[in-house]
Amino acid sequence: MPRGTAPSPITHHPSLSGLSNSTLTRLAKLGIASKFDLVLHLPLRYDDETRLYPISEAPAGHAVLVEGKVVKSDIKYRPRRQLVCHIEDGSGVLTLRFFNFYLSQMKQFAPGTRLRVFGEIRHGFFGPEMVHPRYRVVHGELPVSQSLTPVYPTTAGLAQDALRRLIERALADCDLTDTLPEALLAPLRLPLFRESVSFLHNPPPDVAQGELQERRHPAWRRIKFDELLAQQLSMRLHYKRRRAAGAPALKIRGTLARALLGQLPFELTRAQRKALAQIQHDLSRPYPMQRLLQGDVGSGKTAVAALAALQSVENGRQVAVMAPTEILAEQHYHKFEAWLANLGVDVTWLSGGLRKQDKQQALAKVAAGKAMIAVGTHALFQEEVRFHNLALAIIDEQHRFGVHQRLALRMKGTQTNMGAQPHQLMMSATPIPRTLAMSYYADLDVSVIDELPPGRTPVATKLVSEARRDEVIRRIRDACVAGSQAYWVCPLIEESEALQLKTALDTYEGLRNTFPELEVGLVHGRLRSEDKARVMRAFQDGAIQLLVATTVIEVGVDVPNATLMVIEHAERMGLSQLHQLRGRVGRSADRSTCILLYQNPLTEAARERLKIIFENHDGFEVARHDLRLRGPGELLGARQSGVPLLRFADLSSDVDLLEAARNVAETMLREHPAAVRAHLARWLGERHEYLKV
Ligand code: ADP
Ligand code: MG
Repeated sequence: MPRGTAPSPITHHPSLSGLSNSTLTRLAKLGIASKFDLVLHLPLRYDDETRLYPISEAPAGHAVLVEGKVVKSDIKYRPRRQLVCHIEDGSGVLTLRFFNFYLSQMKQFAPGTRLRVFGEIRHGFFGPEMVHPRYRVVHGELPVSQSLTPVYPTTAGLAQDALRRLIERALADCDLTDTLPEALLAPLRLPLFRESVSFLHNPPPDVAQGELQERRHPAWRRIKFDELLAQQLSMRLHYKRRRAAGAPALKIRGTLARALLGQLPFELTRAQRKALAQIQHDLSRPYPMQRLLQGDVGSGKTAVAALAALQSVENGRQVAVMAPTEILAEQHYHKFEAWLANLGVDVTWLSGGLRKQDKQQALAKVAAGKAMIAVGTHALFQEEVRFHNLALAIIDEQHRFGVHQRLALRMKGTQTNMGAQPHQLMMSATPIPRTLAMSYYADLDVSVIDELPPGRTPVATKLVSEARRDEVIRRIRDACVAGSQAYWVCPLIEESEALQLKTALDTYEGLRNTFPELEVGLVHGRLRSEDKARVMRAFQDGAIQLLVATTVIEVGVDVPNATLMVIEHAERMGLSQLHQLRGRVGRSADRSTCILLYQNPLTEAARERLKIIFENHDGFEVARHDLRLRGPGELLGARQSGVPLLRFADLSSDVDLLEAARNVAETMLREHPAAVRAHLARWLGERHEYLKV
């Protein structure tokens, strides 16, 4: 959308006027706040009431419509109180059973009455019967329905019939004109929006039910396409908006980078070089980079980040390096410091745990522009730090942050730089499956390091039942005596942090008793940051041989000499968490082992997770399974709050639609701004920021 275009008036969705408060509350529970939401409240499935079956020919196994005269009806008390009614249509007799009933129903079912009933037939001892069918009394001619009957997701107190009537009315009242220009719609070979919603709410009897049920029907595909298109438009607008701002163009000089490369004990991999080249190019442009650097654990993102930081430093501009936890931030600090200090680059550590005076001093140095690279936690940067001339923000573990946080950081940059914004390099060690990157991360450019440094031997993963804990103890002893180091990861207790802590302390005490000959350390989230740092340093230096840890070490920790990891109650952990934890070992040429201790009995889901982690070493494969098992909502978690989750489209089966939506979005943004506006108003309503301007 070109900047400066005057916003055209937005058509707001008609409101739900004339409904009682209790109905509105119930609708709200279903996520329905406007008439248009009703249009998009699509059926879960359909009942076929288009066809009347003779009782003797009605198939069992799914709901059918039959009609007959009441022969007799009684209240029976065995095996429990129930109203039993027999109807007959000339072809056979059908028994109806009602366990909850009113006495008035008894009168309604007087012999001779014609009843039309809908339900599933079961063949019992006394012939065919239906339990709790839907029914109506028939007087004279009652034509069968001309379309399948939609069954909607609903909530207590809101009957299907009532919901159906509301939806019918909404379909008549709302503007269902297509938001897609003809020229864009035609090549897609998808039906019109109006046709699609009408069809899904009232499908004709001859439709293939399977296609409808599995959401493969063109009408379904149109809805999914529109939803994906709205997401693409929204994300691309975020992207373009941020990019529309100015940023310092950082020339590629390369002296410091060459010096660092000369000093590193390794050559960059091909994948690292490629990612670095993309970043260097972005940094040299006069608008803010928004790039996500993703690579499996251990793929060497930090070296790439350090080289990128130098490009800023060479241009006399500051860099912020942020990590989500103190442990990780401190590690980055040490690594940057070790690599850059002897190049004459000032690296400053900004910890929440610094003494007040030291902290003031560090902050003053950053504000004065004396500190070129400042390292700390996200929280710290969001709150306290002011820069002199920040040009690049490096943000580790970006996957934990949603599109709105991505925006918030920009706001801060704006304040500090008077209009110009810093470039952003986000890093994620949780590989993001391609479809997820194309959808929820479409507001970013992505570089992938898809190769591990050479000479790594893959981590051997072992599944060991808790019953064989002794063998595990022996292994740890052997490894540590031979000069290696090991991690022991405490069980995850999601329900209670206090219990989690207690478990960690107990485990620590227990292992200290088991291994009197070893130096055992403990690190957990509740430790004060200087204590945490002390323990981590001791482990890094080899003074601690066995490190007992909670999942705080999940991200980023890099101690190559640690070659053994034990994860207790691995069955409780998620796939990406297990993968991240396992990535802490296997960081040298020595063979590493990750032992997943599990407790029987295993749930089906836990068994599957353990099998996947056992069989897969590639983070992208693990992530793909994770997406399949949990869906994007879980994977993105609350972190992505603010981005509407997909309700209809499915990222594993609708890849073709996702690709089409992406292409159409680009053209639409370029050539049809009014259509963009209309489409976003339809799908995102007032939620979208773009519409608020
Ligand atoms: P991650 O991508 O998980 O952040 P790191 O940047 O911590 O990975 O790198 C993991 C380890 O590999 C570090 O010890 C790092 O120094 C080393 N490393 C990085 N790049 C290479 C390379 N090209 N060859 C060999 N070792 C490398
Ligand atoms: Mg890292």
